[in-house]
Amino acid sequence: MILDLDPDLDREALNALRCEYPQLLDERDHFYACDACGQAVDMRRLGDVLHHEEPGHDPLPLSS
Ligand SMILES: [Zn+2]
Repeated sequence: MILDLDPDLDREALNALRCEYPQLLDERDHFYACDACGQAVDMRRLGDVLHHEEPGHDPLPLSS
């Protein structure tokens, strides 16, 4: 874990945090494929990114 975050924050709270990210021409450039579960991860959603850093995690349920 690189970030020093309040452990009480759940994933949705982390996802709601404002973050700086470049405006990319291609929406797909905001995503990467998780090495562990293969799911596409939105780098703008911190909670999701941290979830996919956990060893042995399951893919997230798709929210939309
Ligand atoms: Zn994953």
